[in-house]
Amino acid sequence: MNKPARGARFPLGLDHVHGSGRSRPQPEPLRPQRPLAHAASQATRQATPSGLGMDSAAVRARMVERLRADGIGTEAVLQAFGRVERHRFVDTALATQAYEDTSLPIGHGQTISKPSVVARMLALLHESASARAAGHLGRVLEIGTGCGYQTALLSLLSRGVLSIERVRPLHDKARVHLHGWRQGDVRLVYGDGRLGHGPWAPYQHIVAAAGGDALPQAWLDQLDVGGRLVAPMQDERAGGQVLLVLDRTPDGWREQRIGAVHFVPLKSGRE
Ligand code: SAH
Repeated sequence: MNKPARGARFPLGLDHVHGSGRSRPQPEPLRPQRPLAHAASQATRQATPSGLGMDSAAVRARMVERLRADGIGTEAVLQAFGRVERHRFVDTALATQAYEDTSLPIGHGQTISKPSVVARMLALLHESASARAAGHLGRVLEIGTGCGYQTALLSLLSRGVLSIERVRPLHDKARVHLHGWRQGDVRLVYGDGRLGHGPWAPYQHIVAAAGGDALPQAWLDQLDVGGRLVAPMQDERAGGQVLLVLDRTPDGWREQRIGAVHFVPLKSGRE
């Protein structure tokens, strides 16, 4: 089972990572959360768009049945999809499309991922050794908050989510969307997610909504033993992005590459 990761396919040389612990210094601490007052002042945007209103639960139930028919069998994940109102996370003009299996623009050249892709990633997280033992995702690091939809789903599946976004207006938008969200411990950080967030590590799960050429060292350092990372990553042999599932076992690392995917690029710095 615990096949050592092949260094040649990993620019970061995972075999060197094992045993290195979490003592690597973080290059720069990420900014803590700003007060919620700003978000509260904009919370009026949360009004349910006309046309969905009371029907949204039924529309969501149909989306859940489609996900189930597509092979998502993790009940906890399906239940979370049934509870989070996706239409509140997109612009009002797009709300009627919110329960279709499509990605939608959220501004700044970014998109909210398709429900089927998000469901697949969350189901993969939920199948980790840690999640199977605990029955939940423990503490989760999310890279790429975007509009905050997946953050909300994660909060229902975990004991705490720390989500990092590098685009300031999106970080602010997610704060508005998640204002008043009372489920679990959700922390939003404005910063470069490639650095992870050392002060809250280790994470039992790490999930990225943007893909680069290699996995940042900080993610490897901050993943707990027994934990799982799911992230899109460029794969030269496949000629595009694949979904990488990386388990940190007591003996080392185990890697699977699952299917072709198409996520936005993982960028450096903040804007
Ligand atoms: N899960 C999100 C998907 C957003 S798209 C949602 O539900 O809306 C991916 C996001 O990753 C974008 O918002 C993009 O700005 C962000 N991103 C890209 N590189 C990043 C980085 N280095 N750190 C943090 N966020 C990053």
